[in-house]
This record gives sequence, C-alpha cells and structure tokens, in this order.
Amino acid sequence: MGKVIVVTGGSRGIGAATAQLAAQRGYAVCVNYRENQAAADAVVQRIEDIGGTAIAVAADVGSEADVMRMFAFVDQELGPLTALVNNAGIVEPQMRVDEMDGGRLARIFATNIGGCFLCAREAVRRMSTRYGGAGGAIVNVSSRAARLGSPGEYVDYAASKGAIDTLTIGLAREVATEGIRVNAVRPGVIYTDIHASGGEPERVDRVKETVPMKRGGHASEVAHAILWLLSDEAAYSTGTFIDVTGGA
Ligand code: NAP
Repeated sequence: MGKVIVVTGGSRGIGAATAQLAAQRGYAVCVNYRENQAAADAVVQRIEDIGGTAIAVAADVGSEADVMRMFAFVDQELGPLTALVNNAGIVEPQMRVDEMDGGRLARIFATNIGGCFLCAREAVRRMSTRYGGAGGAIVNVSSRAARLGSPGEYVDYAASKGAIDTLTIGLAREVATEGIRVNAVRPGVIYTDIHASGGEPERVDRVKETVPMKRGGHASEVAHAILWLLSDEAAYSTGTFIDVTGGA
C-alpha cells in the first residue's frame, strides 16, 4: 500500500514546503487550501513535475462539512490515509486582547483549534486499528507562541497554539495503542505570508535579532522536522515536540 497524506493549508508557506517534501518521500499528497486555488495548483504542478501524485482540495478546516467532504474525496482519489499534517492556521491584525471582538476570536479558534480537532478525528477514524485501519502518524503545527503568549500582537493565536500542544499530548496518549503517533512542531519566526496577514510583512526581519541564531527560519526547515516525525525513524516518539526556532 502507498503512503497517503493530507496537508492542511498545503498551498503556501510551511504547508507547501511540507507537501513537496512529502511527495519527494513517496507520499501521494492532498494539498488542502481555503481560497487561493492558483497557489494550490502550483504546488500540485511542482509535485507532478518530479513524478509525484497530488490533488488540490478546497476545504475550510473550520467547517465540519468541508472537512468530511475532503477526507471522503481523499479516500476515493488517493486511497487509505496514512498521515495527516494539521498545518492550516491563521492570525489576524496585531492588537491587544482588550481590543479583540468575538468574531475574530471565533475565526481564530474555529480554524486553529477546531480545524485540527476535526481533521484529527477524521484521520483517527481511518488510521486507527480500533476502526480496522493500518495505523499512521499525525503532526500538528503549533508555534513557539504557545510558550511566549504573543503579548501586544495576538494572544488569541498564541492561546490557540497552546490548545494544539494539549491536543497533541492528549490524543497521542489516547491512540498510542492503536498504531497512531501524534507529535507537533513549534516553529519560531519563519519567512511566510502569515506575517502580512498579521499586518506586518517584515515581522521576521524585525524580530530576528532576538533569535540566538540571528536569523529567521525557512519553511523547508520546518518541513524536514515534520517529515522526520512522520517517518519510521520517529517510531518510538509520540506526544512530543520539536522546536524549530533557531534556539529561541
Ligand atoms: P501562510 O503562509 O499564511 O499559509 C497559510 C496556509 O493555510 C495557506 O495554504 C492557506 O490557504 C491555508 N489556510 C488558511 N486558513 C485555512 C482554512 N480555514 N482552511 C484551510 N486552509 C486554510 O502560513 P504559514 O506561515 O505557512 O503557517 C502555517 C502554520 O505554521 C500555521 O499553523 C501557523 O500558525 C504555523 N506557524 C507559522 C509560523 C511563521 O512564522 N510563519 C510560526 C509558528 C507557527 P489559502 O492560500 O487558500 O488561504
């Protein structure tokens, strides 16, 4: 049986790098995205150019109906799932907690927390030996922000990543005897578009001097940690974390 992976938010940034590295490692890849179809199609094209298999699937991970439709489509098009990378995540413009409204909080938590729970549920239903599956691996993309809290920028986002750390520990222990490993990476400041959606495209260059390595990270550097955690080389690791932060 081949390896089949869903990478949420696989169209840009860390997700795109992960999707492409997964293809190089022999996975058939579902490149999930929310709205930027051109970016998703470009990732699929790059994978096909190296002889890999990929499909682009539009689905809002915060929508239960979208998530269920996406996983059913993957069953049909790529075959039995063996891996999930819960990567899709958003920030909104930088502000203090006392300035945030309920709509913003609902969007952040639905995407960053709800999306990971819903996708993990669908993955467990397919991969767990409890459901007749053959096992697999999940990697959640948390953030160094979970430990720092992101004051004055996006405490809502940081708190959502704290929830992902807890999901990682709890789910790992829940399915540890069912053939599924669940781990997470905690990136530091990485050069992607996400900082522009927070209102500060040059944020990595502003804060990089605070990083012990004195530089921002690259999406491919996070992707390599993710692919290691998914691989059999990490066979005895579950419920754990790799910080990809340049020492921060
Ligand atoms: P990015 O460049 O902004 O890309 C975000 C990706 O997620 C895009 O593919 C986007 O699709 C997709 N997406 C957003 N909302 C979605 C939704 N509701 N449903 C499905 N897909 C959705 O982000 P990134 O920097 O690569 O971040 C990826 C992950 O790493 C996030 O979880 C983020 O919190 C985490 N992280 C990033 C950094 C950093 O410094 N970059 C640091 C720590 C953690 P569209 O193109 O269609 O919008």
